[in-house]
Amino acid sequence: MGSTYVVRGIGVSPGRVVGPAVRLPDAVAEPPAGRRLPPGSDTDAAAERVAASAAAVRDELDAAAQAAEGDSAALLHATAAMAADPSLVADAQQRVRDEHLVPERAVWEAADAVAAELQLLGGYMAERVRDVTDVRDRLVAHLTGLQAPGVPVRPYPYVLVAPDLAPALTATLDPQRVLAVVTAAGGPTSHTAILARSRGIPAVVAAAGALDLAEGTQLLVDGAAGTVVPDPTDDAVRRVRARGAAPRTFDGDGRTADDHRVELLANVGDPADAQAAADAGAQGVGLFRTEFAFLDRTQAPDVDEQTAAYGRVLAAFAGRKVVVRTLDAGADKPLPFLHAAPEANPALGVRGLRVAQERPDVLEDQLTAIARAAAEHPGTTTWVMAPMVATVDETEAFVAACARHGLPTAGIMVEIPSAALMAGPLLAHAHFASIGTNDLTQYTMAADRLLGAVAGLSDAWQPAVLRLVEATALGGAAQARPVGVCGEAAADPALAVVLVGLGVTSLSMTPRALPDVAAVLAATDLATCRVLARRAADAASAADARAAVRAGLPVLDELGL
Ligand code: PEP
Ligand code: MG
Repeated sequence: MGSTYVVRGIGVSPGRVVGPAVRLPDAVAEPPAGRRLPPGSDTDAAAERVAASAAAVRDELDAAAQAAEGDSAALLHATAAMAADPSLVADAQQRVRDEHLVPERAVWEAADAVAAELQLLGGYMAERVRDVTDVRDRLVAHLTGLQAPGVPVRPYPYVLVAPDLAPALTATLDPQRVLAVVTAAGGPTSHTAILARSRGIPAVVAAAGALDLAEGTQLLVDGAAGTVVPDPTDDAVRRVRARGAAPRTFDGDGRTADDHRVELLANVGDPADAQAAADAGAQGVGLFRTEFAFLDRTQAPDVDEQTAAYGRVLAAFAGRKVVVRTLDAGADKPLPFLHAAPEANPALGVRGLRVAQERPDVLEDQLTAIARAAAEHPGTTTWVMAPMVATVDETEAFVAACARHGLPTAGIMVEIPSAALMAGPLLAHAHFASIGTNDLTQYTMAADRLLGAVAGLSDAWQPAVLRLVEATALGGAAQARPVGVCGEAAADPALAVVLVGLGVTSLSMTPRALPDVAAVLAATDLATCRVLARRAADAASAADARAAVRAGLPVLDELGL
């Protein structure tokens, strides 16, 4: 068997795998209010269906939990316990008997009542609202004969095919169960793509033909090339399986062939990531995205909770450096408790450090928690940086706020062209800069990082972006301040060479990229990095820049990159 049909998208997380397609089920719709059983129906039998569904959903989740490991097993067990909650079932049954509601409507209303109570209790209890709505949707799906919502549970690993995936859902994907992700929508530097990459799940986004792939079809997914081949040949499958065998590793020391040191750091989102990054040999954390601790929360975690979470990340890097980024909410990471009113252009709105203007308490709490965690882990070098800085005033205010909290090393992210062009004056105040090439590309090229349709522009190889990286590095050199890169560009081994040649002093990336980036740098001297950087920044297009650098780096082919 074998076909020549190929679905093309944008490869956002590398890796080649083969597995059957499984579609993400549609979201469960609310059953119409007031939908009642036909007159004369057996209400006891209808009420019994609620209990039977609850038992079936619980058994399904328990079975899935048995097959899973770690966090996902615990999550599935907790949801199973919620499905078996006798008070939820009893309340729904009463609504069937007393009000003659159809079982699915009765479940919906009973779950909403539980959710409202939990919401009122606030804190940890309010966090359980999501579990209740998850159970509600599963029960409604079971009662109405629909496929259970959320990440499908299968006894075998599979390729998840979806119209799009929310970051919160991507964060729950278990790499043991989900071999790869293929979505019809999505952009190359969306947080969904970043999460897939950090979990080591190959991913292809903006694949227009994805939704035509039938459930169960064998797919060969290439997350670097951005291709999906249905029904691959036996030979192609054999090649994929053979390659998965001997991965490269990183020895924890980043330098060029002529011993010019380049710190190779990790991007992490939570304590588990941090441990994995430390195990992968990362020389430190160049970007700790603290917002992942806030995602899907109905209120900000309090100082104690934040201190504990940050402390766990710092603990994983004793003797090394961790750069903690303060909350970067907004745009593709909206937080309900911060963003009450919708904005017409959220990427250009109140996001990143700008939120501190409206909610200074959120930044204050966060700096308090970071300072406490740093004090509890004196062996770790803790730096702090602010996202989405545009002006000297913002920089001064942030550095001063950090100093008030006893955080002596405060930096800025350079993600807005104004910050790149003003790097010198900004770095007269800030102690370091870290270039976020994902947003810097979005704002330089006026191309939404979430939108597949403008993916050609959303490319950090664009010479305009490279020139802004160069301007930032020059500003840093003038003030004798280090300038790193923590956007996805740092994880591309060829682009890493260019960034080093442009004057960048550290590269922070998903830990999985460390071995490849380290190997290419170790084979390239600084003079070559500079020559190739000049060629790329002076090229007329992203494609020309890429081609010029590739031509000057035969090591890429030698390493199979
Ligand atoms: C970036 O913009 O490059 C960056 C690292 O920040 P984030 O991806 O979290 O917006
Ligand atoms: Mg950013």
